[in-house]
Amino acid sequence: MRTEFSLAQLADPRLSEANDIFRACVHCGFCTATCPTFVLLGDERDSPRGRIYMLKDMLENDKPASIHVVKHVDRCLTCLSCMTTCPSGVNYMHLVDQGRARIEETYTRPLSDRLLRWMLNLVLPNPKLFRLSLYGAWLARPFRSLMPGRLKGLIGMAPKSVPKASPVDRPQVFPSEGPRRMRVALLNGCAQQVLRPDINEATIRLLNRHGVEVVIAAGSGCCGALTHHMGKEAEAKVKARANVRAWTREIEGDGLDAIVINTSGCGTTVKDYGHLLKDDAELAEAATRVASLTRDITEVMAQIDLKVVPLEKRPTVAYHAACSLQHGQQIRDEPKRLLHDAGFELCEAAESHLCCGSAGTYNLLQPELAEKLRERKVGNIKALGSEIVAAGNLGCMVQISSGTDLPVVHTVELLDWATGGPEPVPLRR
Ligand code: SF4
Ligand code: SF4
Repeated sequence: MRTEFSLAQLADPRLSEANDIFRACVHCGFCTATCPTFVLLGDERDSPRGRIYMLKDMLENDKPASIHVVKHVDRCLTCLSCMTTCPSGVNYMHLVDQGRARIEETYTRPLSDRLLRWMLNLVLPNPKLFRLSLYGAWLARPFRSLMPGRLKGLIGMAPKSVPKASPVDRPQVFPSEGPRRMRVALLNGCAQQVLRPDINEATIRLLNRHGVEVVIAAGSGCCGALTHHMGKEAEAKVKARANVRAWTREIEGDGLDAIVINTSGCGTTVKDYGHLLKDDAELAEAATRVASLTRDITEVMAQIDLKVVPLEKRPTVAYHAACSLQHGQQIRDEPKRLLHDAGFELCEAAESHLCCGSAGTYNLLQPELAEKLRERKVGNIKALGSEIVAAGNLGCMVQISSGTDLPVVHTVELLDWATGGPEPVPLRR
């Protein structure tokens, strides 16, 4: 794609990076076919190529974000399906990050939108506040019909009961069973530890059982992905710096072989910390080291022989590939191979490349499109006739669960169960 940035503009490293990304795009349009919003809406402006043109116009002509740009960029799920499809290696993720940051700087959203985003950004990354807000939503549930649109939707999405906080989600070390083969830090995250604390518990049991010592590093917490996807780059960097410092203390202390992530949306962000903090004079190098050590839990377990035990039943599994895993991190085979090695019969639904509509806070900010994508995803999964659904990202699990009665579990819960752990909670109900 031809660009016309001035030399003065190209002296700005961010615009220079955007220029390189624009120039890699050859307008072929292959990405449109796999973009969920284009598939749903059929509008070029809701395709990757259309968004790239809009972002180019905004950045090249140094324009503030227009209502038009905001509408179509807001509709983007950041599912990164376009990056998997693109034959020219266009880094859409870094481009749309820049676009969102420009929107945040130059566009004033309507008050209700600002309030909703402020609330989500405040509450979701903070486990204590999130837990409190879920209790609040539970109390407000009987009055839901009296509430305005989006608030009504938010309360409707809150779970009917809130699990107790898990003792594993505090800084501590979980020693390996038997000889130690690895020492890893686990990101215990934010929303996941409130909604499904059993996922971190299953991850720690699974790793310990296979000779891996697990540390929850003091000072680590939310990865910043939710904040970053809302265009709040400075706040996302604060969270990233806290994690980089916390894990660097461990790396330089007792050492780490990996930083393990069991929420693939977070994994995509942490693996990009080197880019996010590249201009940080103090932490750029440490951030690159942290990013290079970061692994999805399935990448780590794929290096280890599973200690599979006999089970009375092994339900058939529909595997849902989270976008952040298959597109953001290009991890496709490991989860399926592990589940197969653990003895589960697997199937994968049609259109597995398409997003389920969760996409961080997307299902809260764009509920209509998210619901259409969820119905499509759930329809494809139900057609398989499997007994349960497995995924490697909490957001997808919540989204898919809200559209089906099939139990939805995390891949690590099944691996834990198949190697001697308890039956996953959703299967016991
Ligand atoms: S990230 Fe997903 S929704 Fe956004 S342009 Fe790419 S394919 Fe479309
Ligand atoms: S597939 Fe890649 S090169 Fe082709 S239009 Fe999309 S982003 Fe541009």
